[in-house]
Amino acid sequence: MNTESILTFEDVSKVYMKGGRKIKALENVSFSLKHGTLNLISGPSGAGKTTLIYLAGLIKEPSNGKIMVKGINTNNLNDNERANLIRDEIGFIFRRFNLLPNLNVLENVMLPMIIRDVGKAKELLEMVGIKEWDRFPRDLSFEEEQKIALARSLVNDPSLILALEPTGELDHEQTTNFIKTLHKISGITLLMTSDNEPLRKFFKRTYQLENGKLKSI
Ligand code: ADP
Ligand code: MG
Repeated sequence: MNTESILTFEDVSKVYMKGGRKIKALENVSFSLKHGTLNLISGPSGAGKTTLIYLAGLIKEPSNGKIMVKGINTNNLNDNERANLIRDEIGFIFRRFNLLPNLNVLENVMLPMIIRDVGKAKELLEMVGIKEWDRFPRDLSFEEEQKIALARSLVNDPSLILALEPTGELDHEQTTNFIKTLHKISGITLLMTSDNEPLRKFFKRTYQLENGKLKSI
């Protein structure tokens, strides 16, 4: 068992059935993420990015292959064990609709906390550069929204952050600011997808996904 690896895919495939036809969304995908690294998966629409993040987040199950989170083989977990592993080890950021509109910024960050810790929520908001905690999502820019989603993804000290196209609604400058914020958070292990290939230069490790096949770059 490699204790250094936070997330490992071993020969993972995912097949969907659609109208009696098989669609191979992922084909024999293997990779391993080291603790404390920022990793990017780029690839065009339809490449399998969303499927890969859903599998990594234990939201969907692979058709074949093995997925390990912190050395735990996730294939053999029951629903309870799976839910606990997600809660304890994984934080999510999506492209849009990360925040609940009728909760303010602070309340949104505190949402996944099991023990409500205002001090920690404020600390995380400060870390991502948000100072006014009583603002509501309708008054935020997309960039601010995604920074708050990032703060919230960190509240339970997860081992792994999965970010599905988090910069999809951001312009060039906002994207750069968001990625700079990611770099400021020490010890974070992140797997992010994007169809924006120039983002590669900001990442320690980059992969290209095409037609369900993953290439390391
Ligand atoms: P991406 O996020 O890179 O656009 P997806 O993972 O969404 O890629 O999709 C990969 C392939 O799997 C595409 O061909 C898509 O049409 C197909 N697909 C995704 N989800 C489903 C589903 N629930 N049922 C059938 N086909 C799907
Ligand atoms: Mg997608």
